[in-house]
Amino acid sequence: MNELPAAPRPLEALSFDARFVTSLPGDPASTNQCRQVHRACYSLVTPTPASAPRLRALVPEVAALLELSTTETPTLVRALAGNLVVDGMRPYAACDGGHQFGNWAGQLGDGRAITLCEVVTSRGERLEMQLKGAGVTPYSRRADGRAVLRSSLRELVCSEAMHHLGVPTTRALSLVTTGDDVMRDILYDGHPALEPGAVVCRVAPTFIRFGNFEIHAARGDVDTLRALVHFTLREHFPWLLVGGEPDLPGFLAEVARRTARMVVGWMRVGFVHGVMNTDNMSILGLTIDYGPYGWLEGFDPDWTPNTTDAGGRRYRFGNQPRVAQWNLTRFAEALAVLVDDTSPLAAALGAYTDELRVLEPQMMADKLGLTASPERAEEDDGLATALFSALAATETDMTLFFRRLADVDVASGVSTEARMAPLLVALYDEHAPRSGDVEPLARWLERYASRARDDAASPAERRARMNLANPIYVPRNYLVHEVIEAVTRGDDAPLARLMDVLRAPYVERPGQEAYAAKRPDWARHVPGCSMLSCSS
Ligand code: AMP
Ligand code: MG
Repeated sequence: MNELPAAPRPLEALSFDARFVTSLPGDPASTNQCRQVHRACYSLVTPTPASAPRLRALVPEVAALLELSTTETPTLVRALAGNLVVDGMRPYAACDGGHQFGNWAGQLGDGRAITLCEVVTSRGERLEMQLKGAGVTPYSRRADGRAVLRSSLRELVCSEAMHHLGVPTTRALSLVTTGDDVMRDILYDGHPALEPGAVVCRVAPTFIRFGNFEIHAARGDVDTLRALVHFTLREHFPWLLVGGEPDLPGFLAEVARRTARMVVGWMRVGFVHGVMNTDNMSILGLTIDYGPYGWLEGFDPDWTPNTTDAGGRRYRFGNQPRVAQWNLTRFAEALAVLVDDTSPLAAALGAYTDELRVLEPQMMADKLGLTASPERAEEDDGLATALFSALAATETDMTLFFRRLADVDVASGVSTEARMAPLLVALYDEHAPRSGDVEPLARWLERYASRARDDAASPAERRARMNLANPIYVPRNYLVHEVIEAVTRGDDAPLARLMDVLRAPYVERPGQEAYAAKRPDWARHVPGCSMLSCSS
């Protein structure tokens, strides 16, 4: 019999631990002065209080994971704002480094993230609560340790949406506005302005990134690196500690497979992370650090929402699988500092491409509602490639296209016009059907219909399978932008409504049509909708 879930408790009654702090070497200094921190995995810090914290959202599912009561109490709000450190919490900022946009950037670290505690649930699970935007730490460099409402809200909405979409991610418990304004130059064009500040509380089993290992490897600090590897394996991959010794190739292969699963999830739902630096790559394969991310509207593999990356487009949609592999190679190099013979690590890196080779075709088959088989692999790969070039011929909304493809009648003898009908809603140019731009798509549809008729699955099965792989609701950039405007005005209801819709992204419900609508014209060039900078 399943055990009943534990009754939710107020924050101060939860069971806290801090194994990262008690097991790993820490920074002996305790001031918040910015500095290089050597031979340590973290610095103990105290969050900086906010002047007028207000709870704007509390996510019940995440509270339930923590066995935390959702009753709003002054203690809860103060703790989630960084104004109160509850007994048993040992707040810290972690030390990491990373490769940013392809270059080694040295020490980075939690410049505005502070882990408050590890919550130990009645089931023995451990989850970290981490505040983002609660003030400076030794890793803040020249920045203020704060976060603005718009980026905090974007992180809250998107991490929860990703979870419900079935893509591995860190979670978000709460959004608190601080009552303090923060100065940001959104477009980096010399026009800084004050914006409302906010704090998000994120939740994950750990926030350890590739960069936490890289920093010690780069400094040749083998002892600290080894300690971190031991800790990570003991806490998160215990089966990879064999007789007390770390199975490093096993560790790398596991991280590689998880990363592959995450990236294939992104590709399935049309998510562009935007800043895939190695300090933003989770060791658990979770989507982490939601910054200038975006959702594909018109299907375009070259699209990136990040204006900071507009030149090289390193982190464009279609490049994400390759960048993940590049990042894993940097992680492998960090582990390589611990061994004499690096060939087992080099071999383990192959787990990434192996996993991708299985997952990518399966994901496309699911999106197209086809039964994948080795005999048809080549044919289906050709079908997918042809689709991508047909979609490039006229601006076509990715989410609506795949969702409505399930409604296409694939029976023989159906006219091309009738076959196209359900898909017209996905076209951004209403003249496209008459301009000839949709001809490649129409030709592709005939090829697809023929392949689908020939499939082992029935039309009903095809449709059901597709509707489990192709969401109807994703946090489109313009939808979130509208919610940010409402919450900034003091109206929190649109945020609650959006989050509610995003709880069931595969279930189309009447009355929610507005949340499935493609990007309106006004949003095409608006900062925050189609373009985002790293300013957050
Ligand atoms: P990102 O690529 O946005 O995840 O951030 C890169 C680095 O900059 C991380 O080490 C962050 O902690 C740090 N950072 C970003 N914004 C701020 C800020 N407002 N205050 C302090 N540190 C920041
Ligand atoms: Mg980051």
